[in-house]
Amino acid sequence: MQVDILDHLPAGLLEHPAHHLARHLNGPTLIHLPGRRPEPLFVSVIQHGNEISGWDAVRRLLAGRYGRDPLPRSLALFIGNVDAAAERRRRLDGQPVMNRCWPGSHDSATPWHRELARITDHMRQLEPFASIDIHNNTGENPHYAAVNAIEAERLHLASLFSRTVIYFTQPVGVQSIAFGEFCPSVTLECGVADEEDGADHAMAYLESVLNLRELPASMPRPDDVELYRMIATVTVSPGVDFAFGQPAQDLWLPPDLDRLNFSEMPPGTRLGRLLNGHANPLRATSHEGGDLSEHCFRTRERDIITARPLMPAMMTTDADIVRQDCLCHLMERFTPAHPDIEDVSDEPELPETLP
Ligand SMILES: [Zn+2]
Repeated sequence: MQVDILDHLPAGLLEHPAHHLARHLNGPTLIHLPGRRPEPLFVSVIQHGNEISGWDAVRRLLAGRYGRDPLPRSLALFIGNVDAAAERRRRLDGQPVMNRCWPGSHDSATPWHRELARITDHMRQLEPFASIDIHNNTGENPHYAAVNAIEAERLHLASLFSRTVIYFTQPVGVQSIAFGEFCPSVTLECGVADEEDGADHAMAYLESVLNLRELPASMPRPDDVELYRMIATVTVSPGVDFAFGQPAQDLWLPPDLDRLNFSEMPPGTRLGRLLNGHANPLRATSHEGGDLSEHCFRTRERDIITARPLMPAMMTTDADIVRQDCLCHLMERFTPAHPDIEDVSDEPELPETLP
């Protein structure tokens, strides 16, 4: 795999939907477009081939107003996995996940790691104004921005996209962590890929960021950002027989559990019902592998309830996905202890007893 670096848009490129890009580009491509302010805005699209809102946003932005007017700021456009996009898939069989191959990854160096390290070094030298990596996800999630450090410029950049901002430091090898070393960097999640409002939202956002002269150096006001951090992944313990809204041996789960997605659940919110004495049917595991089940859940009568305020993300009611992957991720509202501290410990607070 080699990333082409171009200093112009190939003729007609903006006319093509994501699944045609592979016919017009050799592979992943970085395209530099000049603008009035020289420090470029780096924008990354279709790192995952089926996540097309970013490309749709960029093509409309560049074919529209900035087809006539000069860009207010230089743009460095990274177009990622065009081969997977051609098949409308996240990635092809045998390909790594592109957004795990940027510097900082624990994995062994593949050609992808080497190429993405080269692109990172190339961009570092250009002193980008900011970096925006655009994604879609599955299921009913609101649009949100994510940051990898609690820092004023990133939080402003994120809060221009959404009030809900998610802080994460795992997984490693993601583009936003690599570029966060040298410029304010965010990841956008624009809802499901085939809904137009994701591209609309991303386009409006890119236009406002391109027109920014600078990002405020002071922390945003607490009212402007609702900051959450991922603390755990919830799985059903192996061997537990469960079902959503149907009879099961061990664990009954509400059929509409996913309505809780991205809502802050107060302590005592019921997640399921134990049908026998199975201990710990739901497991909450931190990214470091620690067991946070007791931190997150309690049993009351036979109900499994939340032990503290928590917000689930990517909750699914598809039993197969639960078995293969997880039930949901859990986030916790997060108030930085000190606004000037760049990063914070990953350790969650010690469990509190229920009131
Ligand atoms: Zn993605």
